[in-house]
Amino acid sequence: MSKNLTFAELIKQGGQELNLNLDKKAVLLFETYKDLLLEWNQRINLTSITDVNEIAIKHFLDSLIILGEIEVKVQCRVVDIGTGAGFPGIPLKIARPDLNVVLVDSLQKRVAFLREVIDKLQLKNIEVYHGRAEELGHYPEFRESFDLAVARAVAKMPVLVEYNLPFVRVGGQFVAFKGPESDEEVKLAANAVFELGAELEEAKETYLPFIGDRRSLIIYRKTKHTPPKYPRRPGLPEKKPLG
Ligand code: SAM
Repeated sequence: MSKNLTFAELIKQGGQELNLNLDKKAVLLFETYKDLLLEWNQRINLTSITDVNEIAIKHFLDSLIILGEIEVKVQCRVVDIGTGAGFPGIPLKIARPDLNVVLVDSLQKRVAFLREVIDKLQLKNIEVYHGRAEELGHYPEFRESFDLAVARAVAKMPVLVEYNLPFVRVGGQFVAFKGPESDEEVKLAANAVFELGAELEEAKETYLPFIGDRRSLIIYRKTKHTPPKYPRRPGLPEKKPLG
């Protein structure tokens, strides 16, 4: 059914399915973002998805599903760890220009792409940092300073929580974008989540517009400060996940 729709129609109608009213400006920004993604993807590895309709659904709408599932407060401070080509952080910023967004990635080439996107789309209140979560999570300006941390396709949950939770303020949330089979990962991360000062709030199951692929949003709430020793030094969370 999605084959008969243009890219712009997919974004607009998919947004409606997610209870989002994406205006003309947002749709145009998604068009430009998609063009830049395809252009840069010929030079650097950004995505294996190159079909325009698939980009609309599997990257852009997939990034936006969170907005239909949890309340993301006006002007809240959001960090996207391991953003890659900007997912979910840039689609969130396009759909919700009020948000204050920080994008983090350890690959310099992707960071250069993200800077170009921000420049060409003239996005405000969004910054990109090149570095590893294990280092940036100790910076005073980032530590426990975000209302919401998000991550998609970056690491298994026991690793991911160590990357993300140090950025979240007490009372804030970390939402992991996962596929359908996330139960085991969530169980494996239970001790790490406790150690890092958080609780599992909810695992929400949802579906991608048009194609119906299952997605899980795993929502954690920060309840206590993260001990200063976390995150451990670069590479260690992945090598020896907290258990
Ligand atoms: N979130 C994007 C998405 O959903 O398409 C990108 C996914 S890509 C598979 C994972 C990204 O996480 C890569 O760009 C990689 O450089 C970044 N990454 C992995 N470990 C990281 C770390 N410890 N700190 C910062 N970035 C990291």
